[in-house]
Amino acid sequence: MAQARSCRVLIAGAGPAGLAAALYLLRQRPDLRGQVIALERSRHPRPKVCAGGLIPKTMHALAELDLALDVPAVSVRRGAAKTEIGQVDYRDGGVMCTVVRRDQFDARLARAARDAGLEIVEDCRVRDVRNRPDDVFVQTTAGDFSAEVLVGADGSGSRVRDALFTRSQESVGRALMLDVPAAGVDDPPYCFDFTCVAAGIRGYSWAFPCLINGRPYLNVGIYDQCPRAAVDPNRPKARLLDALAASFPDLPIPKSGQRGYKAFPIRWYAPRHSFIAGRVLLAGDAAGVDPLMGEGISYAFEHGKLAARAVDDFTAGRPGALAAYDHAMRRGACARKLRRLGFAARLFYGPRHKLFFRLAHLSRGTQRIGINWYNGADRLDEASIPTLIARWAGAVLFGARVG
Ligand SMILES: Cc1cc2nc3c(=O)[nH]c(=O)nc-3n(C[C@H](O)[C@H](O)[C@H](O)COP(=O)(O)OP(=O)(O)OC[C@H]3O[C@@H](n4cnc5c(N)ncnc54)[C@H](O)[C@@H]3O)c2cc1C
Repeated sequence: MAQARSCRVLIAGAGPAGLAAALYLLRQRPDLRGQVIALERSRHPRPKVCAGGLIPKTMHALAELDLALDVPAVSVRRGAAKTEIGQVDYRDGGVMCTVVRRDQFDARLARAARDAGLEIVEDCRVRDVRNRPDDVFVQTTAGDFSAEVLVGADGSGSRVRDALFTRSQESVGRALMLDVPAAGVDDPPYCFDFTCVAAGIRGYSWAFPCLINGRPYLNVGIYDQCPRAAVDPNRPKARLLDALAASFPDLPIPKSGQRGYKAFPIRWYAPRHSFIAGRVLLAGDAAGVDPLMGEGISYAFEHGKLAARAVDDFTAGRPGALAAYDHAMRRGACARKLRRLGFAARLFYGPRHKLFFRLAHLSRGTQRIGINWYNGADRLDEASIPTLIARWAGAVLFGARVG
């Protein structure tokens, strides 16, 4: 049997979470150049089923890593959200979302990570993972590897997770999407439609402007947080394709068949889960992301940053570093935000959804805080509850600008 290839740090999956972990780590520890290997089952640029919406929080992370976003992108400065109560149009002057194509974006991250000293072994699928007393052992389709520590960043269907962590399907949502040609418009909005909640779907439809080969398109799709459950267990749930077509009646969206549709699971954050096992830690979709909207790229960067800190400490001889990672993933600022999004999902996608949508419609100030908090503008998402309440009260009572 061939000997396992050994290095100091292994990363399963070269998507945003794995590449962010490598980028942050190699910034902190340039001495690890050439000692960090990512195992990737595909080859960049590889397709990824995703709408490619980067919220401002992700743009802050790119700036922190000195990464220019030199791929085609659409900057979105206005949004529209439809609910069973009515429609809210929103703009605050700034860029609310930057829409990229994931094959190009991820290949850009991979290039930066390679330049920083990461080796990416492509066409290499992780098959099994075992913790051993002195290392972690990884079997792949391209041979065996061993390292001091492994970051499991291999997405929603994580093989690393299956090998070492409790299997659970209950926190896995589903999203499907389609690209349709669009008339080019200046200042295109991005649209969210939550009316499917009244039809039993715990989620929303979206339409994001994007560029494919330089031409304007709309990426349309629908997210269902709980494919096996309806909003009200006593009432039937609409089919996803019917709900998506109902959201955008003016768009050429086929209601049946799979032509053009791409579907993919989204694992969402559940705080009761473990995020470490022995020498292995989970990040990004493998750990779980936003339950409310299924947004995951900003969390890929957040988790990647936390994982990099933990791996830095662990490889510097501090064995408690991985437990600290687990703690941060349960109690840290990012975990707090994910827990609050889980709470919001229970309200807005629960039996009393109409009441909560009605409340959300009431005040412009509350909407502004909610959007800025969600987007991580001015780090509002890291603020304490008393700070948020004070800002909210200011916005509602005096119409003050927030965030
Ligand atoms: C339809 C849809 C729309 C979405 N839209 C948005 C959006 O607009 N904005 C947003 O922020 N998020 C969105 N998301 C979520 C977002 O795509 C994910 O949260 C994000 O990609 C997570 O990054 P990651 O690196 O954790 O996982 P991934 O991007 O899935 O990367 C995992 C990597 O691991 C590799 N891999 C998988 N298995 C193995 C294996 N066994 N061995 C080796 N390599 C492996 C994969 O090839 C991949 O490169 C959307 C998701 C879906 C499904």
